[in-house]
Amino acid sequence: MIRAETIDEARSWAAGHRRAERTIGLVPTMGYLHEGHLSLARRAKSAGHAVAMSIFVNPLQFGPREDYDRYPRDLSRDEGLAERVGVDLLFVPPVEEMYPRPPRVTLKVGSLADRWCGASRPGHFDGVVTVVSKLFHIFRPDEAFFGEKDYQQLRIIEAMVRDLNFSTRVVGCPTVREEDGLAMSSRNRYLTPEQRRRAAALPGALAEARRLCREGHTRADELAEVVRRALSNAGCSVDYVAVVREDDLEPVEKVTGPCRLMAAAVVGETRLIDNVALVPGRGD
Ligand code: AMP
Repeated sequence: MIRAETIDEARSWAAGHRRAERTIGLVPTMGYLHEGHLSLARRAKSAGHAVAMSIFVNPLQFGPREDYDRYPRDLSRDEGLAERVGVDLLFVPPVEEMYPRPPRVTLKVGSLADRWCGASRPGHFDGVVTVVSKLFHIFRPDEAFFGEKDYQQLRIIEAMVRDLNFSTRVVGCPTVREEDGLAMSSRNRYLTPEQRRRAAALPGALAEARRLCREGHTRADELAEVVRRALSNAGCSVDYVAVVREDDLEPVEKVTGPCRLMAAAVVGETRLIDNVALVPGRGD
């Protein structure tokens, strides 16, 4: 595995592979790798790509009161994990390499960022698409791999690619979970053992609502209420619970077509997000 810290090295690695008629798969991350990240790299590998993984804690996507400074970092552990799953190039640029000066031009997400995580974290998705577009320009990947765990992010990046005519194909990959259902996340390490137990209420409630929907309970308000109640019983404070259409993330009253149940909750100081697909059943 090659480790690159500069944009020039990353660009020439990608150019070399293109000349050799290899396709390029990109896995953007903020590091502190877990099985969720590694599943994206394995997927890229099994598609036959030369695989680049970036590890960059992007200051642009953190709000002033968010956890940029204390976001977990462990580069030497990450290097071992990335190498083991077959990452070919690990791109670990220092902040000054990606932002040698405060950027004078950034991207702005439209209405897809108005609600849900976008409403709680103003500017967050603008920071995400800005850095992802930089990475897409640096690597010009054939495919880029993102987790469904961050569902609104996935939809926004798909929209960025469509609206700005990137030639990269975005591949959404399923959420990898701990044994009790909690979606893997670098931020899970903030949780105390007691908070960790309470956090399991989130995937539990989403699974319960998914089951109810399949049994024919397709009213969005009822499904959301199941999740809200379970979260507050577990002592988690609710940021949002929403039943949305998969394509534009607009809320629905009833689950008829492809929908997602998305939720964000705060346990202690830690904000958790998760989502599940809802499949309507007829109830008979
Ligand atoms: P992050 O390092 O949290 O910015 O995540 C980097 C990429 O990994 C994003 O595309 C995430 O959606 C994805 N990811 C994070 N957690 C998981 C998970 N539990 N399962 C699948 N993908 C994930």
